[in-house]
Amino acid sequence: MSEVLKEIPYKIEKSKGMEPFWEGLNDNQLRTTKCMKCENLHYPPSPVLCPVCFGTEMIWESLPLSGTVTTFTYVSAPPAGFDKQYILASVRIDKLDKAILGRFHGEKLEIGDRVQLTFEKIGDQSLFIFQSVTG
Ligand SMILES: [Zn+2]
Repeated sequence: MSEVLKEIPYKIEKSKGMEPFWEGLNDNQLRTTKCMKCENLHYPPSPVLCPVCFGTEMIWESLPLSGTVTTFTYVSAPPAGFDKQYILASVRIDKLDKAILGRFHGEKLEIGDRVQLTFEKIGDQSLFIFQSVTG
């Protein structure tokens, strides 16, 4: 369990068609949609319509659980639900030509650091969190 976030302080709206994303998080996977027509991966997932070619046939794919930090910031005034400050990181996920935001579990981070996604269960929903790759 996270030492920073004890409970999700808002209701997660799980829109129709996004079930594989949320279920994937509970299975320790980061899933997104891939367009069968143009083969682009989307993030966030776009289960109905491809934002690139407007294709309508998607499949779900699991993304690699690793990436590279593109930038980060210290959140020194944590929002409701967080009991202390934390680092919010932008990470370019391997294979996905895009950076995504998430909390970083740790005290020190540099641009260019390799991180991995891990999962923490908060209530009945797992969420991903970035963690340093230790070697
Ligand atoms: Zn497409």
